[in-house]
Amino acid sequence: MDIRDFLAMEANSDRDYLVDLRALDFVSSYDSHLMCPICHCPFVQPVRLQCDHIFCQKCLGSAITTFRSADSDEFPCPSCRTPTTRISTSVPRLLVNMCDEIQVRCPLVGEGCDEIIPRGHVQSHVEKYCGYRLMPCPDESCGKKTRKKDLQPEERCMHSYCRCERCKEDVMEQDFAEHDRELCPSLEATCDDCGNTIPRRSFKKHVETCPDVVSPCAASQYGCSVKVRRADIATHEQQCPLVSIGPYLEAQNTRLNTLELTMRHLQQRNEIFEDGMANLRSALLESARASGGDRSRGRSATNGDRDRQSHIDTDESADPANSFSSHTTQYLLSLHESLREEVSQMSHALTDLDARASMTIMNECLRIKEDMAHTNAALNSVRMQVQWLMNPRLHNGTRANGMRTNSASNETTRTQLTSTSAAGPSGASLGPLRPRRPSDSGREGTKL
Ligand SMILES: [Zn+2]
Ligand SMILES: [Zn+2]
Ligand SMILES: [Zn+2]
Ligand SMILES: [Zn+2]
Ligand SMILES: [Zn+2]
Ligand SMILES: [Zn+2]
Ligand SMILES: [Zn+2]
Repeated sequence: MDIRDFLAMEANSDRDYLVDLRALDFVSSYDSHLMCPICHCPFVQPVRLQCDHIFCQKCLGSAITTFRSADSDEFPCPSCRTPTTRISTSVPRLLVNMCDEIQVRCPLVGEGCDEIIPRGHVQSHVEKYCGYRLMPCPDESCGKKTRKKDLQPEERCMHSYCRCERCKEDVMEQDFAEHDRELCPSLEATCDDCGNTIPRRSFKKHVETCPDVVSPCAASQYGCSVKVRRADIATHEQQCPLVSIGPYLEAQNTRLNTLELTMRHLQQRNEIFEDGMANLRSALLESARASGGDRSRGRSATNGDRDRQSHIDTDESADPANSFSSHTTQYLLSLHESLREEVSQMSHALTDLDARASMTIMNECLRIKEDMAHTNAALNSVRMQVQWLMNPRLHNGTRANGMRTNSASNETTRTQLTSTSAAGPSGASLGPLRPRRPSDSGREGTKL
């Protein structure tokens, strides 16, 4: 709505409230954000501007009439000076509820009502329920006011005076019952503690101050069991050691409470960590079991590990009260131990393999060396035979021709020659000097 509508609404809604909500005695504390910047009270019928600032409807109405330049359509927000043309009556429900829930004293506390009620109920309390609201006397000629609870069902005036027979005092009829019960000076009561007789109307006050009432030491909460007359309590408290260390004990108490709170927090965190540890542990165990199964299929050497593993398992099931952390450490240590064993076994196997391999290589070398020696010998014998063959051919050409004729018989003795030449170069020279064809020696070389 615009400003004119708002002012019209404000003028119309200006109904008479029984209670001024801004003059209440606030019992509970309230957030400063619930305070109207204009009247500095919790909002009464709040309205909202375009800039989101909130004011009481009534406060804003008076602010507009004061600050608006004659008949213009906008006015500056009382908080931020933003020019404003529109006003909204829809404010957050939460804000209204929070304002209505602030505890206040009944405004008729001066009449004797000591009720404490939420601010939202004050109007209806005063209007309908409060017995201390002053009503005009049913007798219209009287003109006095009477409290609502004193109104008689028969609606007669209670303002006439009547005389108290005991104290000879004139008391208004509406107060007579109370006078008769308590206020009459002739009524007396005897204090049980000091034995004095006191007017009944001051009896309550006397009980609070009677010097003979036995009361506990101020340090009774710290263990002082002394109970003395009120008159002597000051003397005792001067000497009582517990009174002097009272503040210290108080400080210790608060410290203990703080520590307890911290402990509880830490305990909760510890529980969370323990859960995490347990999860980790179970995951580790699972993976270890899986790998353990693989290993047992491959090698029998892991039997020891698995035995240790099952030993740990039985340990856990037998004593579950043991802390998780020690179990985990134990498990990790055993895992480490088994791994170390495996590594040492592997290194042993490697050394073994190394030795075997070098042995084989050495044997092989020896064999090859021998073969080489044989080959060398054969080569030497062949060389000597070739030399032997060359000599007769150079100086004795005719004999070589004769040799070619009986080459067939020479073929039969070739195997015998091979065995003798393999025995060494000396064997070749010792062997029978038979004429040979060059092609034979060549074939013999390739065979070796
Ligand atoms: Zn206000
Ligand atoms: Zn504003
Ligand atoms: Zn009341
Ligand atoms: Zn009257
Ligand atoms: Zn009296
Ligand atoms: Zn007394
Ligand atoms: Zn004491």
